[in-house]
Amino acid sequence: MNEFIVYLIQNPLALYLTIGILSLCVGSFLNVVIYRTPKMMEQEWHQECQMLLHPEQPIIDESKLSLSKPASTCPKCKTPIRWYQNIPVVSWLVLRGKCGACQNPISMRYPLIELLTTICSLTVVAVYGPTIQMLFGLVLTWVLIALTFIDFDTQLLPDRYTLTLAALGLGVNSYAIYTSPTSAIWGYLIGFLCLWIVYYLFKVVTGKEGMGYGDFKLLAALGAWMGPFLLPLIVLLSSLVGAIIGIILLKIKKQNQPFAFGPYIAIAGWIAFLWGEQIMKIYLGG
Ligand SMILES: [Zn+2]
Repeated sequence: MNEFIVYLIQNPLALYLTIGILSLCVGSFLNVVIYRTPKMMEQEWHQECQMLLHPEQPIIDESKLSLSKPASTCPKCKTPIRWYQNIPVVSWLVLRGKCGACQNPISMRYPLIELLTTICSLTVVAVYGPTIQMLFGLVLTWVLIALTFIDFDTQLLPDRYTLTLAALGLGVNSYAIYTSPTSAIWGYLIGFLCLWIVYYLFKVVTGKEGMGYGDFKLLAALGAWMGPFLLPLIVLLSSLVGAIIGIILLKIKKQNQPFAFGPYIAIAGWIAFLWGEQIMKIYLGG
């Protein structure tokens, strides 16, 4: 194992290939995470409501969903997906985007998310090289991809991922991997508070709720990873990314998507994570 790691550190091509194949598989798993997490949460809410409203009645025995169970099936004909039909990107191309049994079309989004995961992962490798920063950077990237698509689909940023990401950021930076421990703690606090203040003012002025608590938790998590000084950049970039994607979506769909801010914070956070320091230097004219 150690020899393999040394080999990867010394051979960039082998490193890119290994991370490339690994991230294709991770992308395939992220598809499951993105598809199932909202359904799992719905099941849990349903059970909680049932318990609260009718504690005397036994809970309806729903087939409990998790990330690993049941095995993936075609959503239409329920035919189990075999391992050779589950190879990232390749299987989709071989099957020409259709279920092998019933010809039901399989969304192009699945191979695209696998490719996106790979491209983003290789970018992290290119920026950080074979370091510990690269390793945790990959984890951050993968969680952000899952959060982006879950929020885009459902306007939800699940606590189970935002809070875990924040805890991991604080933990990683307790060893000053990306920023000092003190800076990570302040990043976490300020990240949460600055959006909370915007939210509160917006609510006072307009009487509406502009964003959700998930957005604060996500920005808090990014603050924990990068420290407070990149937070203004993340907020600025997220408005910019939001404007660009908003215009593109409006052109494609010709309709207004429900407002989700999370994907823009996630994308801006990822950009700041990789190039934030350089952008700040150019911006401040250093
Ligand atoms: Zn089918």
